[in-house]
Amino acid sequence: MNDPHWQQALFTQSAPELGNQYRDDPLLGGWLRRVLPAEVLRDLEPELDELGGVAGGDLYRLQLADRLNEPRLVQWDAWGNRVDTVEVTPLWREAERLTVRHGLVATAYERAYGRHARVAQFAKVYLFHPSSDVYTCPLAMTDGAARTLIESGNQSLVARALPHLASRDPATFWTSGQWMTETTGGSDVGRSQTRAVHEDGEWRLYGRKWFTSAVSAQMALTLARPEGNPPGGKGLAMFYLELRDAAGRLNGLRVDRLKDKLGTRKVPTAELMLEGTRAELVGAPANGTRAIEPMLGVTRMWNSVCAIAFMRRGLALARSYAARREAFGQPLARQSLHADTLAGLEAETWGAFLMTFLLVELHGRMEAGAIDDGQRALLRLLTPLTKLATGKQAVAVTSEVIEGFGGAGYVEDTGLPQLLRDAQVLPIWEGTTNVLSLDALLRSDLQAGLAALMGRVSACVRGLAEPRLAAAGRQAVAAIERAALWLQTGQDPEVLRASARRLALSLGRALQLALLCEHAQWLLEHGGDRRGLAAALRYSRLPVDLMHETDTALDAVLLDPQHA
Ligand SMILES: Cc1cc2nc3c(=O)[nH]c(=O)nc-3n(C[C@H](O)[C@H](O)[C@H](O)COP(=O)(O)OP(=O)(O)OC[C@H]3O[C@@H](n4cnc5c(N)ncnc54)[C@H](O)[C@@H]3O)c2cc1C
Repeated sequence: MNDPHWQQALFTQSAPELGNQYRDDPLLGGWLRRVLPAEVLRDLEPELDELGGVAGGDLYRLQLADRLNEPRLVQWDAWGNRVDTVEVTPLWREAERLTVRHGLVATAYERAYGRHARVAQFAKVYLFHPSSDVYTCPLAMTDGAARTLIESGNQSLVARALPHLASRDPATFWTSGQWMTETTGGSDVGRSQTRAVHEDGEWRLYGRKWFTSAVSAQMALTLARPEGNPPGGKGLAMFYLELRDAAGRLNGLRVDRLKDKLGTRKVPTAELMLEGTRAELVGAPANGTRAIEPMLGVTRMWNSVCAIAFMRRGLALARSYAARREAFGQPLARQSLHADTLAGLEAETWGAFLMTFLLVELHGRMEAGAIDDGQRALLRLLTPLTKLATGKQAVAVTSEVIEGFGGAGYVEDTGLPQLLRDAQVLPIWEGTTNVLSLDALLRSDLQAGLAALMGRVSACVRGLAEPRLAAAGRQAVAAIERAALWLQTGQDPEVLRASARRLALSLGRALQLALLCEHAQWLLEHGGDRRGLAAALRYSRLPVDLMHETDTALDAVLLDPQHA
């Protein structure tokens, strides 16, 4: 057994490799060519190329090397002072450096690219995210806080915080937290118990915030109930606070512990106790859940971009592995069933990508004042639909990617399991799938949103010359029409609510299919690239219309343990 010749003959599998993540992504490159003016793309491309190289190279290697490091909460110093500092991981420090260098938040506020600023920003974020150990979580909230302060019209807070949030200088860059969830609930935020007390001419907050991600931030936007206000969401107000004073002392708060989580383990998510935290009212002393909505609009968009980025990363790794792993005398890539499995995942990823970047494009238009009423209605409906659809797709795709590696996918030091664990948060935070489905379905402007969605789907299919794409386009139109008809036929309110997720996902999948067809036709006409055609047709064979009859009474029997 100790014979060295025998040991040399032992097979060792080579690991998957990543190349330049921009150059290796024909979907991103093709889509940018389609939507961006040539001069904008020319200006942006060197930076995308650099980021693609870093994300598939040095940053990815650092991520693998940094695997076992986790953030650490230091509550006391040697002299008995309560300090509650959080030491983040080496990769997070590098991610911060890259953030300011590439303006991952700043690009949206500099306006160099006008209505394309969000597309430029999120093309970079899409490349960066999978190698960042979810450093994109604080960035999402930072971006959301900047937008929320701008929308609030509170000029003194904008002047105070925006130069930090959108900074390209590491010495002045701040991240922001978003402290909403309490033990009473993250979905039903109206039950929040945090009190805001007006003492000696300033507001002080008392309460417990139960999930506060990236407590390494310098500021936060939060909700609290001014004393005397009624219960419910309307009685809450939105506050701005900074975590420490100029001397680094904590602002009347305590970090009780960092949560021990399934994934996003590099993100320091804390339980906080507010014990007289000085805070500033951002706007009115009520209607805080409405005031903080711009934050959610932005963070849900980030969530969607992170979802498609994880899907792309999983597929990049799976494809590399399929080319180098052999079974039954052939690389996996040439085994038709393995190839079929990966093709299905590609189709999902293409559909999710096109929906997400439509959302991004509309958001950029809105901020640049280049949006019409229909596009605005579409943006409002697409925000929850895209977040919920892509969150689910990311979990499904990364789960299948893990299986595509066989046992290696289940082994921690390949770095692969982290992909699935981190993806699993995407359908939970920033509104769960059910909560967002209800949000989409019960909103007062649903009809305007649906009309805009149908308009966009019709526009997608109008120019489809390729007969198979035209047939797939008709399938998308039929799914949307069936959902709209179902809504118009006066459903029982319980049935309506119970069906909300199926309805939201059907609308999302129908739009994805229509966008796939549109993009595929463009690719055929611009160089004869058939990848879009393959993605669209493959997607059209997957379930698109998920609506089915709902029997809430019978389902109740299924859930009743006492039923005989
Ligand atoms: C890693 C991580 C980091 C987080 N960071 C932050 C943060 O920085 N700031 C912050 O404010 N929050 C944060 N959160 C909290 C997150 O936003 C909440 O967990 C989420 O909104 C759900 O709230 P909940 O946990 O109270 O679940 P609940 O609201 O109790 O929901 C439980 C289940 O019930 C379902 N449900 C609830 N209401 C309905 C309904 N009406 N109809 C049908 N189904 C329903 C939900 O879909 C869910 O499946 C974080 C969470 C995680 C996991």
